[in-house]
Amino acid sequence: MSHTDRLLVGIGVSPGVVIGPAVVVQLALPEVPHRVVARKAVNREVARLRGAVKAVRSYLERMRERAARRAGAEEAKIFDAQILMLEDEEVLGAVERLIRENQLSAERAYEFKALELRALWSSNTKLRDRVADLSGVHFRVLQQLLGLPVDWIPEGLGSQPAIVFTPELTPGLTVQFDRPHVAGFVAEQGTRTSHAAILAHSLGIPCVMGLVGSLGRVHPGTTVILDGTRGTVLLDPTADEIAEAQALDRRRIALDRELERAVGQPAVTIDGVRLTLRGNVDLPEELEAAAQHGAEGVGLLRTEFMIVGRSELPGEDEQVGYYARVGERFPAHPVIVRSYDLGGDKFPLAVAPEPEANPFLGWRALRVCLDRPEIFRGQIRAVLRARARANVQLMIPMVTQVEEIVRTREMIAEAMDELQREGRPAARDLPLGVMVETPAAVVMIDRIAEVSDFLSVGTNDLTQYTLVVDRGNARLADRFTPLHPAIVRLLKATADAAQRAGKEVSVCGEMASEPVPAVLLVGLGYRVLSTSPPRLPLVRWLVRQIDVGRATRAAEAALEARTTGEVQTLLQEAVAEQVDLRLLDAGRLPRARPETSLKR
Ligand code: PEP
Ligand code: MG
Repeated sequence: MSHTDRLLVGIGVSPGVVIGPAVVVQLALPEVPHRVVARKAVNREVARLRGAVKAVRSYLERMRERAARRAGAEEAKIFDAQILMLEDEEVLGAVERLIRENQLSAERAYEFKALELRALWSSNTKLRDRVADLSGVHFRVLQQLLGLPVDWIPEGLGSQPAIVFTPELTPGLTVQFDRPHVAGFVAEQGTRTSHAAILAHSLGIPCVMGLVGSLGRVHPGTTVILDGTRGTVLLDPTADEIAEAQALDRRRIALDRELERAVGQPAVTIDGVRLTLRGNVDLPEELEAAAQHGAEGVGLLRTEFMIVGRSELPGEDEQVGYYARVGERFPAHPVIVRSYDLGGDKFPLAVAPEPEANPFLGWRALRVCLDRPEIFRGQIRAVLRARARANVQLMIPMVTQVEEIVRTREMIAEAMDELQREGRPAARDLPLGVMVETPAAVVMIDRIAEVSDFLSVGTNDLTQYTLVVDRGNARLADRFTPLHPAIVRLLKATADAAQRAGKEVSVCGEMASEPVPAVLLVGLGYRVLSTSPPRLPLVRWLVRQIDVGRATRAAEAALEARTTGEVQTLLQEAVAEQVDLRLLDAGRLPRARPETSLKR
């Protein structure tokens, strides 16, 4: 088989290269027999359910202690979240009703509810991160109810450090299997922000997730190379491939040393141009990483996690608390709160939309906020109140019409008046930013700049909507690139319009987190980049190696290019004059899934 046939590409969630034999751990929910119980036995079933919950609680407490010892107190809290899921009275009450009203056995009733919840959470982008936590809890409860040992060790985990392949990595599995038995994890499901990913990262165990179909491709015992930085798994490597992987890992270690040297240094190019580097924060857990990596504020504070999957909208006070906490963490810098980017596939339970044929071209983001002012008003009020405590600003996504910005401004003015009437401390001014992430926004950029205080380019959606390439479609991954000449021209038009209007413009899409594309942005005139927190050290180091003159010449040539290949070559040549590209290759994002972490 060729190298390509043996190479599986997923999402690298915990960096490092490891080589070892594959062990398959199936954490499928156990087979639950169909069993109806006699009416007089229902109390006993309910008692069995409560007993199982208690036993699983003690297992999770043990895992929490182990995580605290090995990974840290913050990571151990992941198990508190699992305990909350386990003891959720809404769920347990529903299971109890199924037992009492339908005379189902405890395991049957529990499984019924577990499958329902799983389906609900899986279909929701933000909750998908927590599906593995949920499955871990359900699995243990069912195991307990079915009388299977809770603390089992899978076959094949022996003396040699193995690479564990599993459909879904749960937090429990991640801390239960100690090194030296486990060298790395591979999961078919999962995301960079799942709890198991965070734990694997803290424990320093290389891990790749999202490798759909990998279990069917790997035979237990075969040697594999797991590259947790690139997010790849190579089956049956040759001696040469093993040597190459080891060399790449050495380069990565060298790159890490370089990055460490740049820690605490400003992002200044060698010809003296100062850039501002901010962090993108999706979840509260990422805040500390952004601060520790020297983010100069938050260029994109995503807020969907606050409402997706919850049955109630978050209260205003809860939002004020979060926005102000983030703002106070960066006292000298702005924190840009993005209004709910709902829709597509992210919807809160409280706003169940009609099914749409094309949700990504449908009722989403700012459209939802403007059509449902009761949702938007609370968020605007919360930002205004948080702004009384810190430099919090507001940014609106998916803008296609100037009217949307005008209407948002009206709503801000109304909210300010309301808050004043109520006598609450709140800001009387609020910078309003617009995300430039649709072709329409770029075409209208001069008019949009007139009514905005700042602009921020969302290259993920701008690329998706301009090139007509679904950003999540692995099959089209090669076509999903911001180095397409059309995107280069849109980026240039946006930078120029912002400059003419005297408005700040930044880039908060993933493009700013990728080394070579980031150099193009600098060459096109962007001076503010907002990257995912783990990418900050790499981007800072890179900025300190390049000069703007050279980047500008490369960008000018790219504007004349006809193909993506030409743009790529031009940039690579320009960067190679100042940086060892092999080092950058060590920090390159895997092309198929632009989500990885470089942090060791
Ligand atoms: C973008 O589209 O580039 C962006 C930053 O927003 P999101 O990834 O949240 O859609
Ligand atoms: Mg977007």
